[in-house]
Amino acid sequence: MKRKFRAGILGATGAVGQKFVELLEGHPWFEITALAASERSAGKPYREAVNWIGAGEIPAGIAAMTVESATPDLECDFVFSGLDAAVAGDLEERFARAGYPVLSNARNHRMDPVTPLLIPEVNPDHTALIERQAWGDGFIVTNPNCSTVGLVCALRPLVDAFGVEAVQVTTFQALSGAGYPGVSALDIVGNVTPYIGGEEEKMASEPRKLLGALAPEGIVPLDVAISAQCNRVPVLEGHLECVSVKLRRPASPEDARRAFLDFRNPLADRSLPTAPERFLEVFDDPRFPQPRRHLDLGGGMTVSIGRIRPCEVLDLKFVVLVHNTIRGAAGGAVLNAELLVSQGYLKHRKQTLTV
Ligand code: NAP
Repeated sequence: MKRKFRAGILGATGAVGQKFVELLEGHPWFEITALAASERSAGKPYREAVNWIGAGEIPAGIAAMTVESATPDLECDFVFSGLDAAVAGDLEERFARAGYPVLSNARNHRMDPVTPLLIPEVNPDHTALIERQAWGDGFIVTNPNCSTVGLVCALRPLVDAFGVEAVQVTTFQALSGAGYPGVSALDIVGNVTPYIGGEEEKMASEPRKLLGALAPEGIVPLDVAISAQCNRVPVLEGHLECVSVKLRRPASPEDARRAFLDFRNPLADRSLPTAPERFLEVFDDPRFPQPRRHLDLGGGMTVSIGRIRPCEVLDLKFVVLVHNTIRGAAGGAVLNAELLVSQGYLKHRKQTLTV
């Protein structure tokens, strides 16, 4: 990379925005040149505007940067969005209309017919939808809901090898998925809450688009029935999911294990910096995977699978673990941006910085 791409972060002070700051520190292709958030934060140095919840310190070069308003005049080649969904729809459109590529975590544009809903290992060809967007030089690409990401990464090899007719999934979702300050301590300490607004609907709809086929008329969704039950549990990071599947062609647990291990990763030859060495990790020890022990595999980008066994109601069942704020949010968006660079969709905008 001769010259790094200049990245802006919308919603830079939020939980996902902070993960972007952490992940982009030292990134070989991208450097942060703009941080934006609400009017509450605009005009303040980042270290004062943010309630930093990361494990380490705020990267030194970022702490003193001034947070700007989220208006489309930022000095950057493209923006990552970790905006609150209440404002993301409109603000992201304004940036796209002004010529900025937008890589969003928010739900607002995910199901738009011409917006790629992207997991690079799962549906890299869906980026062709960008050519059907009418924003001029700008465009919007989204990454899925954090629980959907784990589920779909595990389903892709099974869909390819055997076909999948129906899915039943029960999630155990970490607190960080609710942002900051998120769920009240009185609601979650020593407790489980069996409702996460809007989550089950997203898990039932987004996988059909992600696993769908790109056709001249748009994405033809995969014909699969999905029933999701989503629960919030007192875990800091990492969504665990118990999945049962009905297959179109018979397969044993060993066949499924081989399908996960033999999956031909479409990123294999692209050398993307954030792509993990192992896309899927399969555990044979029946105690695994667990959030605390396996969350950070592949820098938080590996999806873990275990307990593959026959299902008494459908065909097979297994457990999936996904890092919700890395693979399921900021890391997923950074990998999306890397894929877009390698496919030629992300380009340098005119340089106007005077420093
Ligand atoms: P969050 O912690 O509540 O952060 C929201 C961010 O949006 C803050 O930076 C906030 O800035 C900014 N914001 C709010 N109103 C604004 C406005 N009017 N103009 C400009 N900026 C505004 O939320 P989060 O958990 O990071 O989630 C961010 C997005 O990612 C959401 O759409 C969420 O659904 C999605 N997502 C989250 C996760 C996860 O695991 N947390 C996973 C996948 C997707 P101020 O600090 O100035 O208020």
